[in-house]
Amino acid sequence: MAELLKGKPVADAMKAELIKKVESLKSKGLAPKLGIIRVGARPDDLFYEGGAKKTAAALGMDSEVFEYPEDIQQPAFEEAVIKVGQMKSVHGILMFSPLPKHLNEKKIRTLIPVEKDVDCLTTGGQAKIFTDDPTGFPPCTPTACMDMLHHFDIPIKGKKCVVVGRSLVVGKPLAMLLLREHGTVTICHSRTENLPEVCKNADILIAAVGKAKMIKGNFVKPGQIVIDVGINPDPQNPGKYCGDVDFAEVEPVVQKISPVPAGVGSVTTWVLCKQTIMACEMQNS
Ligand code: NDP
Repeated sequence: MAELLKGKPVADAMKAELIKKVESLKSKGLAPKLGIIRVGARPDDLFYEGGAKKTAAALGMDSEVFEYPEDIQQPAFEEAVIKVGQMKSVHGILMFSPLPKHLNEKKIRTLIPVEKDVDCLTTGGQAKIFTDDPTGFPPCTPTACMDMLHHFDIPIKGKKCVVVGRSLVVGKPLAMLLLREHGTVTICHSRTENLPEVCKNADILIAAVGKAKMIKGNFVKPGQIVIDVGINPDPQNPGKYCGDVDFAEVEPVVQKISPVPAGVGSVTTWVLCKQTIMACEMQNS
């Protein structure tokens, strides 16, 4: 049976450390605050927003939701985002994406100040990740994966790390973070040939595909570490979620595996708050 890499102990350890940081900032008269920009009311956004607010409150941090109607027009929304960006009391900004189709999201992202870009939405923020600039904030999910690996003392240096998925939100930045820590990184995608063999060759296999249970028993071998980033409706269990990894097939084979739910997903809002606290520290240093 594989060791389960659960998110809760990672979040708990982070919580203890972050509470101290918030207290220390407060003693200097600083109150770290997360600003959440939301257009409309998509259930997924509301769910994540609720989690982020709860996490911030647990840390003694402030958070504020800036909510706009689904039909807000480009000029009004640009003005609103600029205003939030200029608020001295807001240190980190999360903007839910995708925005409604009639809005020019590419342009709006540029209006978020890079120093407040705690979920790596701007090209400036992305550039920092790809150039190993320590003042940049990677997207929360790849950071959560790295925090999981660190927490469970999983060595990265020199190890074969295979990332399945090349999105700007997960796959690519995660590959950069693994590379930064001297992993030997392979990025796979929908055109990768012989995917099961490539995955089987990994020491650390990370699935960020967005396809329920795609990573099967024939993609893995004993001794591997598997991190499952996927969150998908479970085709076999309506109303439930599952990962990109077929847990029933993979878990009996590998050494360690993160479950879904209760794995990476339970760490992301803590990372969001951690990065907001870091942003607050940097903006006031
Ligand atoms: P995207 O849809 O943006 O990217 C999916 C990637 O998987 C693409 O690079 C795509 O390749 C690749 N892919 C798709 N099908 C295959 C295939 N058959 N074989 C190999 N590669 C394939 O998804 P995201 O990166 O945004 O999200 C990935 C997963 O992570 C999703 O399940 C999502 O729900 C979850 N997620 C979880 C979060 C968390 O906090 N736990 C947060 C964000 C996402 P190509 O580029 O060639 O199309």
